[in-house]
Amino acid sequence: MSAEEMASGRLVNSGGGPSLLPWDIGHATHLAVMEPETAFWSLVRKDRLADALTGGELLALYRQKRSAFEQEMALLRFGLSPSAVYFNPTDRCNLDCSYCYIPQAMRQGGEQMSAERLHEALSRLQDYFAGTMARVGRLPRVIFHGAEPLLNFKALRQGIEAFDGRFEFGVQTNATLLTEEMLGFFQDHRVSLGLSLDGPTAEITHDARHAREGRVEVHGAVLRTLEKLRGSRRHSVIVTVTRHNVGVLNEMVELLHGLEVPACLLNMTRCTLEGGRQARVPDHEAAPPFLAALERTHALYRETGRKLVVGNFANILLAILAPTARRLMCDLSPCGGGRAFFAVAANGDLFPCSEFIGLSSFAGGNLFEGGVRAALESPAFAKVIGRDVDRFDPCRRCAIRHFCGSPCPAEAHEMHGGMDRLGAFCAFYEEQTRYAFRLIADGKADDFLWNGWDQGEGMATLLDFAGGV
Ligand code: SF4
Ligand code: SF4
Repeated sequence: MSAEEMASGRLVNSGGGPSLLPWDIGHATHLAVMEPETAFWSLVRKDRLADALTGGELLALYRQKRSAFEQEMALLRFGLSPSAVYFNPTDRCNLDCSYCYIPQAMRQGGEQMSAERLHEALSRLQDYFAGTMARVGRLPRVIFHGAEPLLNFKALRQGIEAFDGRFEFGVQTNATLLTEEMLGFFQDHRVSLGLSLDGPTAEITHDARHAREGRVEVHGAVLRTLEKLRGSRRHSVIVTVTRHNVGVLNEMVELLHGLEVPACLLNMTRCTLEGGRQARVPDHEAAPPFLAALERTHALYRETGRKLVVGNFANILLAILAPTARRLMCDLSPCGGGRAFFAVAANGDLFPCSEFIGLSSFAGGNLFEGGVRAALESPAFAKVIGRDVDRFDPCRRCAIRHFCGSPCPAEAHEMHGGMDRLGAFCAFYEEQTRYAFRLIADGKADDFLWNGWDQGEGMATLLDFAGGV
């Protein structure tokens, strides 16, 4: 019998009993009580808190669920193997967005993969996944990402045609080069499309997303594409939230909902590089407009019966309600970078996540030389995979650390000098998690999740790609 088994488990917060922390969710009548290590939680009436911590019911519930919660967390945190790849077929981009995570020099003059090389890369990836996903019952996923992947459409097209049926493909694009023919090709081959749009008006979009020289009509190109995609359930939009657009998030979700976009991300700009840090919304200012935009999506759903799922928030809700159903892998620790997926740069270098592509010390090897397995075991990947929220302050003491995950390792490293540091948006995650618990307390959580999530159904958009257990 272990020392822990020998200890008394009669009482909460001593001996072998659970550490149950009350946590203020900002609700009129309820607060959350949580056992942070296993992410066990219960909503308790404020006037019953003393009863809950001293009576038998909560403790009995915890004992009943503890083992399932522990197993689930262990699987998610340490038992995943990659099922998706973010693949940059080119380093180059025709735009010069202020917050881009790829250094400007790379975007201007970086490599472009030839069609032969891209074919070989997919072939090597197929070999790798054949050994790891044969019994999983779904295809590995390849998301062509950027930089701007459509600058290399010819190679990309040949790759998708040659490996049709052997990968699920997705493309994240700025849409400025997207032609009718390309769109038809993607639809014919069931390729999920992700577009990027930052503003409800051209002026706001172009504040952050613009060409290096001259004028590229970014905003109009995305809107025209979204019009053509009306009715498709395979597309989504990434809105990068910066100081330029944080004041118009309500208008932004109204626009996307009006265009019948099924899902979007309202992502705070990552602060790995200086450009992102310049555009950043201060942490404590990020939550109010973000939560207001969520409320607006809810009102639109109630008016029309049609949802615009905000994927990054839906993921927080799922982290609480059904951890293994989460789709995105940032708010988990260790995060999904190098575990649930990895990234391939245009020269074949392998990184734990695209966020590290501008940081050469995080290249774990090369697809064409050492291959995937060697990269996954490399010291560069180990730094990211080893970032464990239970091991550094203040996160290791935080009640919501397994709903937040303390993203992002790239930000922690570049902004604060190490993996064992905070990332960029602690207060924002706190407020999102409180709001999620309030929705659960009020029985509204379902309204913010896609239909069928509780039957194991996905969304068919790019937001489904990196996750799923
Ligand atoms: S937390 Fe950062 S490194 Fe991890 S998956 Fe998210 S963006 Fe990538
Ligand atoms: S970043 Fe903040 S909210 Fe997230 S785990 Fe760390 S302390 Fe908690």
